Amino acid sequence: MFPNPQALSQAALDHYVHSNTDLDKHRQTGSMLMVEGDGVRVKDAQGRSYIEGVAALWCAGLGFNEPRLADAAARQMRRLSYYHNFAAKSADVPVALAERLAEMAPGDLNRVMFATSGSEANDTAVKLAWYYHNALGQPAKKKIIARRQAYHGVTVASGSMTQLAAINGGFDLPIDRFIHTDCPHYWRFAEPGESEADYATRLADSLERLILAEGPETIAAMIAEPMMGVGGVLFPPETYFPKIQSVLHKYDILLIADEVICGFGRLGTMFGSTYFGVTPDIMTLGKQITSAAFPLSAILMTDRVFDVIAAESGRRGTFGHGYTYAGHPVGAAVAMEVLDIYQERDILSHVRRMGRVLHDRLAALADHPLVGEVRGDGLVAAVQLVDDKAARCFFDPAQGVAKGVAAHLQENGVILRVLSNDSIAIAPPLIIGEHDLTLLLDRLESSLNWAARNLG
Ligand code: PLP
Repeated sequence: MFPNPQALSQAALDHYVHSNTDLDKHRQTGSMLMVEGDGVRVKDAQGRSYIEGVAALWCAGLGFNEPRLADAAARQMRRLSYYHNFAAKSADVPVALAERLAEMAPGDLNRVMFATSGSEANDTAVKLAWYYHNALGQPAKKKIIARRQAYHGVTVASGSMTQLAAINGGFDLPIDRFIHTDCPHYWRFAEPGESEADYATRLADSLERLILAEGPETIAAMIAEPMMGVGGVLFPPETYFPKIQSVLHKYDILLIADEVICGFGRLGTMFGSTYFGVTPDIMTLGKQITSAAFPLSAILMTDRVFDVIAAESGRRGTFGHGYTYAGHPVGAAVAMEVLDIYQERDILSHVRRMGRVLHDRLAALADHPLVGEVRGDGLVAAVQLVDDKAARCFFDPAQGVAKGVAAHLQENGVILRVLSNDSIAIAPPLIIGEHDLTLLLDRLESSLNWAARNLG
C-alpha cells in the first residue's frame, strides 16, 4: 500500500483527519500508525510493539487478531454479505443475536435494535424515550438528564449527554432538552465524614431537586453508565443506583443504562447493570459486543417500553427509524462468535482472576507520592495523580503530568489513556494474561517513579 513508513506518515499528514486530536499540533507531531495486532499487542509502522493497556478504546476484548473472528466474518460474507432490516425484512443472524442478547440481559430487556456505534445507540435510546412518552400522551416529557463528566458519544444528542469540555466546546453542545446532574465520585465530592450511603442519598436528593425545578412533566429519561469510564473510571457510592432509580420511578422517568464500556465483562460481570443491581428500561451496548472487530451496537428495551412503541407505530403506520447498516449480518456473525468465545473461555472468571492481580498491585501503588486514589474492579482501573495527596488537590492541567507519564510509558511499550484531571485509565483486552499484566504494571510503576523525579 505504501512503499515505506515515511510515505505512510506523509500521507497521514497530508490527508488524514484524526478524531479527538489537536489537529494543529498534529501537523508537527504526525501520527502513530498501527499496522499489525498480536493478541494484546499492536505494532506500529516503525515496527515497535506495544501492550494496548486500554484495549484501544476499551473495546478490543479479544485483542487485535483473533483468527476465529476473521473466519466468522469471511464465512458470513460468502453466505450473505449484507441485508437490511427495514420493512419487516432482515438477515437471519441478527435475529439469532437479538435472541441471544435478550437471554443474556438482566430483567425483561427482551427487544433488541441494532446500530453501528455507541453514539448512534445512545441517540436511538433518546429517540425511543421521546417516542414512548409521545405515545403515552405525555408530549412535554422531552428533557434528558445525564451526569456531569459523563461520556455518551459525540453525535448531536449523545454529544449533548456527554459533559466534557473537549467534546462540547466549539460544537454548540449541549443543545436544549439535555441537562446534567451530579457526577458521583465519593473520593472527590463527598463531605468529610460522610458515608458512601449518605453521599448517595445526597446525590438522589439533588437529582430530585433538579427534576422538581425543571418540572417532572418535562423529563423523559436519565442516562447513566453503571461505571463511568471516560469520565474517570468512577464507581458510584454504595446504594446509589437503588436510590436514583426510586426517584426516577416516582416521576415516571425512564432509565437508560449506557453499557458501551461496561457490557460484556469489563467489571467481571456480563453487564455493569448486573454488577450494581440496576434494572434499566433501555440498555445500550457496543464496543466489546464484537470485540471491536466490526462496528456494531445494540439497543435493548423492556417489553413494557416496546409494547407502547409498537402500538404507536401501529397508529402511525410505521416505526420510522433505522440505519442502512443496523443489524448488519457480518457484524452479527462476528458478535455471535465473540459471545461463543467469551463463554468457552469463561471470560468472566478470567477477568475476575486478572482483576485481583491488577487491583492488588494498584493498592500498593496508592502509597506512591504522585497517586491520590486508585479505583476500579475487574479489568478496569484508574490511577488518579495529585499535586497534594493530603489536600486531594489536582495538578495544574498545563503541567501535563499524566500526559508525561503516558508518553514515558509509550516509549517503554505500553499504551494507557489519560482521562481528565490527570487520571490514567487501565482497561486491557479481557484476554490479557498474568505475565503481560504484570509487565504493564511494572512499567507503569517505573513511569510513575520517573515522573516523581522529573515532573510535577
Ligand atoms: N458510551 C460510552 C460509555 C462510551 O465510552 C462511548 C465511547 O467511548 C460511547 C458511548 C460512544 O461510542 P462510539 O464511540 O462507538 O460512538
